[in-house]
Amino acid sequence: MVRTLTVLGATGSIGASTLDLIRRNRDDWRVIALTAHANAVELARLAIEFCAEIAVVADEAALPALRDALAGSGIAAAGGESALVEAAARGADVTVAAIVGCAGLAPTMAAIEQGGVIALANKEALVSAGEVMIAAVARHGATLLPVDSEHNAIFQCLAGNDTAHVRWITLTASGGPFRDWTWDRLVAATPAEAVRHPNWSMGAKISVDSATMFNKGLELIEAHHLFPVGLDRLRIIVHPQSVVHSMVEYRDGSTLAQLGPSDMRVPIASALAWPGRMDTPCTPLDLAEIGSLTFRKPDEERFPATRLAREAAQAGGSIPAVLNAANEIAVATFLAGQTAFTRIAAHVEDVLGSYAPPPPACLSDVFDVDREARARARAVVAGS
Ligand code: NDP
Repeated sequence: MVRTLTVLGATGSIGASTLDLIRRNRDDWRVIALTAHANAVELARLAIEFCAEIAVVADEAALPALRDALAGSGIAAAGGESALVEAAARGADVTVAAIVGCAGLAPTMAAIEQGGVIALANKEALVSAGEVMIAAVARHGATLLPVDSEHNAIFQCLAGNDTAHVRWITLTASGGPFRDWTWDRLVAATPAEAVRHPNWSMGAKISVDSATMFNKGLELIEAHHLFPVGLDRLRIIVHPQSVVHSMVEYRDGSTLAQLGPSDMRVPIASALAWPGRMDTPCTPLDLAEIGSLTFRKPDEERFPATRLAREAAQAGGSIPAVLNAANEIAVATFLAGQTAFTRIAAHVEDVLGSYAPPPPACLSDVFDVDREARARARAVVAGS
């Protein structure tokens, strides 16, 4: 049976991995919409290759270039944030939500409102709008499948089990490129060093998040919404090899873990084929070659992000959205060479300490919180 697909963030790292799998299974899929921010040339190339119905750039200034690149193809072109939402609302059977940052929230919610399958990579959207998004999934009968490798691993380890029997959900963390760096070295870490992840090839923002451990913090909040076993049953362990993608321990002492290569095509394939399985071209694990798997506790002195995220999750309401927005601004500032690596968490903590907005009742409240937290973060960064 042919299924329809939309990829939000088609030109990114997750988008490319998704489309690589679709390319290998062309007869099983019909592409509805592909979207990007401003990379019109690559988006048009993909839209033509996959015979998409429509290609959308969120940045309207990139629309003329998209139109030019699609001329004569018969593929519709559109631009702007509302066009992005309209494309997501076309009701694909499966929507891969792979925009980076809270910018992905509105189109992801539009896809959820159509009641299809949402393969969610865009963790910032769930962190910012947690309760609102989960309620919308239930209200519209949508199916939220986690693509983030840790959450996909947990999803697989929970299959067929009652969450009442869960003792621990353990998120593994590679520790990023700086896991063994001293504080003095961290202070001088450059953007080029931060995006050079030892195990995974990813977009710039998540690579920096991985280096600060905010990625694991965001994932803790993501897990809190996806697997409601209680925050006190969620923990993080550093596992430098990134072979065990996460684990679930049950009350009888059994621990189920999901292992796999460090290749996002594995969890993406799991979500695309769910509840079945599909082939991937990934090199299988060779555990004898890997030899040993090691684990250690996270160091929250050098990497305070997981503490900040846990506190934000505990506070609930709008606080995770504040944490996420402040982090997005701090990361962008760091990538622009305008703040030190070790100031990222400090900026986020300053913004979190500056106010406490009321819990959001709806999506527009989430956007208000996000906007205000970004403004505060810019002021904090500028004043430092
Ligand atoms: P990339 O930076 O590689 O790609 C981001 C995509 O989003 C691009 O298509 C980009 O378009 C688009 N985009 C960026 N900004 C906007 C915007 N303001 N409005 C609309 N579209 C926008 O990111 P990744 O693929 O690495 O990550 C995507 C998401 O998946 C993130 O939330 C990340 O945390 C999550 N994730 C990623 C993993 C990975 O291995 N990469 C692993 C697990 C989760 P353009 O090309 O035009 O800029």
